[in-house]
Amino acid sequence: MADDGKSIPHEFRARRVDGIINGLEDAANQSRLSHDRMSAEEARLFAEISKGDIKRHKAYLAIRNNILRLWFDEPRYQLTFDKVVETLDKIDITLLSEERVLVGKVFFYLERYGYINFGVFRRQTASPEQKKGRVIIIGAGIAGIIAARQLQYFGFDTIILESRARVGGRIATFRKNGYVADLGAMVVTGLGGNPVSVLQTQTNLDLVPVKHKCPMYECSSVVVPKAKDEVVEREFNRLLEACSYLSHMLDSNELTKQPLSLGDVFELLIR
Ligand SMILES: Cc1cc2nc3c(=O)[nH]c(=O)nc-3n(C[C@H](O)[C@H](O)[C@H](O)COP(=O)(O)OP(=O)(O)OC[C@H]3O[C@@H](n4cnc5c(N)ncnc54)[C@H](O)[C@@H]3O)c2cc1C
Repeated sequence: MADDGKSIPHEFRARRVDGIINGLEDAANQSRLSHDRMSAEEARLFAEISKGDIKRHKAYLAIRNNILRLWFDEPRYQLTFDKVVETLDKIDITLLSEERVLVGKVFFYLERYGYINFGVFRRQTASPEQKKGRVIIIGAGIAGIIAARQLQYFGFDTIILESRARVGGRIATFRKNGYVADLGAMVVTGLGGNPVSVLQTQTNLDLVPVKHKCPMYECSSVVVPKAKDEVVEREFNRLLEACSYLSHMLDSNELTKQPLSLGDVFELLIR
């Protein structure tokens, strides 16, 4: 595989323009791994390689980084073992029969530990005919939903139990009269090494950079005056501090004898 940058996701290409790193390094970094060193987990799972000769160590890293790179090239589709073997055969890794076994081990390690084939991707191979078991997941927040998808991919039957009348948990969007407001998560804090950036590619979500200047608007669409914004922020912080102090001072609710959360005290003060 030529490292010509054509098949690299745009966010990687942008960083390449800065001349900082190349595609394989990017793929490792994006997976929160070092491109030229095994992680402690890898050293434990592949002990014979981590303690073995440098040639095998390098072969391991080359195989691992290339598999990661293939995944990031097109995370909308399942990366299959066949595709990995086919691609690695074409590049500068001599796949001796011994190394083919290693490719299989590295591939299944990366898949099992969630470095590849995670999120919302299209399956390319048939689902396992026989289910491995049934898992009940409590909560249909993003963690529960993604866990269910991953377990289904691995061949488990899954059931999600959710106490609320909607899915999404702390991710929620309020819509009224054509207006849309996010009530929970809406900011992706950093794309480097963040699996959310993979989800964003997979779901075709648009990201808009948060500007340094981020004005707040009144309902009438007029920008909130600076002085008013500062007063409200000061009052909000005072209220938060008072709630925090009280929730530490009041050990429990007099009536229910339950510990008081920040929210409980907040509601008490408002009332
Ligand atoms: C106002 C706000 C703004 C935020 N902004 C950002 C942001 O900009 N960027 C960011 O990255 N993160 C942000 N976060 C944090 C982010 O939303 C959460 O980290 C993330 O959504 C948590 O997902 P989760 O699946 O782990 O948990 P949750 O979303 O809390 O999901 C847990 C689910 O489990 C259900 N549940 C709990 N107990 C039970 C039970 N016993 N039985 C059945 N169901 C149960 C709950 O109803 C809920 O649906 C924000 C959070 C809030 C509240």
